Amino acid sequence: MATPIAPTTLSEAKSANGGPTTLSEVRPWRTSGGPTAPAAAITDTGFMQAIIHGEARLSPHQALDLYHTMPLIELGRWADLRCRCLHGETVRTYVIDRNINYTNICTAHCTFCAFRRSTGADDAYTLGHDELLDKIGELAAAGGTQILMQGGMNPELPLNWYLDLLRLIKARFPHIHVHGFSPPEFIEFVSFFDPPGDCLRSKLLWMMTKMREAGLDSIPGGGGEIFAHPVRRRIGYEKCNAETWLTVMNVAHELGMFTSATMMFGHIEGIADRIHHMMLVRDWQDKAIADFARGTDHAPFGGRYKAFVSWPFQPGGTPLGRVPEWGRDANDYGDFPGDTGDLAHPLFGKRLRTAGSTEYLRTQAISRLILDNVYSIGASWVTMGPGIGQTALLFGANDLGSVMMEENVVSAAGTTYCMSEPVLCRLIRGAGFTPAQRDNEYNLLAVHDGPNSPDLRVTNWSTQRTAMVQHLDAEASATTEPSIGATSE
Ligand code: SF4
Repeated sequence: MATPIAPTTLSEAKSANGGPTTLSEVRPWRTSGGPTAPAAAITDTGFMQAIIHGEARLSPHQALDLYHTMPLIELGRWADLRCRCLHGETVRTYVIDRNINYTNICTAHCTFCAFRRSTGADDAYTLGHDELLDKIGELAAAGGTQILMQGGMNPELPLNWYLDLLRLIKARFPHIHVHGFSPPEFIEFVSFFDPPGDCLRSKLLWMMTKMREAGLDSIPGGGGEIFAHPVRRRIGYEKCNAETWLTVMNVAHELGMFTSATMMFGHIEGIADRIHHMMLVRDWQDKAIADFARGTDHAPFGGRYKAFVSWPFQPGGTPLGRVPEWGRDANDYGDFPGDTGDLAHPLFGKRLRTAGSTEYLRTQAISRLILDNVYSIGASWVTMGPGIGQTALLFGANDLGSVMMEENVVSAAGTTYCMSEPVLCRLIRGAGFTPAQRDNEYNLLAVHDGPNSPDLRVTNWSTQRTAMVQHLDAEASATTEPSIGATSE
């Protein structure tokens, strides 16, 4: 197995403009430790059967071939079969959590973000501890089990602000799982607080151990975006690079923590960049399993990526969203610049190729087939809406994400869907499965197979908020309490 590269210094970690500069460099097509059959054709049914039974592993080129050539329904069927092998025929899950974005002040300037504010802006905010605890109290009263807590990278908050908050949460709500602080936040913690250590990894280990001792349970996959440097450096100014993102997660795995991985696609990237992104997650998951499965000095049980969630870029209210869509100008001819591998193409990074429903389903299905070592694939109803979220359960997803008490997530970018627990259960049942509430580690808390199931108790669906509040006016929604991240990660 190829050894992933890890940055050793903070300046390396934050050099979003560093790293490889050609697409061939950023797509090294590492071969991982699993069984591969690089000569097999994807039209070989026997090979695809081996994939779904975990007896063979897709190479990057085979994955790209699948993406471009296999009819959507056929691709979905293979992904569904793989999902059924891993998760059975019966149950599909959801979680009750609350997305809490503690601050919108951020030092980075991601072009896809409608959430960030500079210090001193009229609508900049940082929630106080009492306010945060009140929100968690509401979640607990509603039967929720976890919070997803992420924020901007706010240099005004001292380390004790975070440690005290975590201690307060655990003291008052010991049963609430704290899924918090994405890799870019951890890199800024290292930058702001300069913890002890002689390299980035040791500093991260110190920082994450402190957070964990204070009450942090697991790390969400925010800030993954697209790993390929030429894409990432154009959309994520002053944000950590891919190797650093992956290193933060690797440190979490060393400490025995579960994490998730994410991908935001459908902007300036090529399809090969999406495959490359998934392959890196697979490689580093191989490494985590090989290195930490039996535990480490720091933790008796190894951590790993527990879930992967992908979603399309939501352009509303973002600088990147003002970039023209590919194909609408007379000068846009030939292949999409992101796909060509020609970084000198005058339109690379200057045209968008946004992704709709079928692109989303295709990408998610490929993720299920590639990520043979990641337990869960989550559907993103938050960005795609309830109908496509439900359909995604037949395209490789085993989990419909979160009943969100608070959905700030993509509202800043103009897309807001909300769903109650009965509606979420109804969608899962309508896809042919039994809905089940899970916790962060995918343990089943309640399997809804009886008459008292949340959806089966509903006698009048017109009284239910069926999810479809879509704010098309991005400016209006951005002024409420905008947020980051796009799903239950
Ligand atoms: S996506 Fe996150 S890191 Fe980037 S500008 Fe927005 S809040 Fe900051």
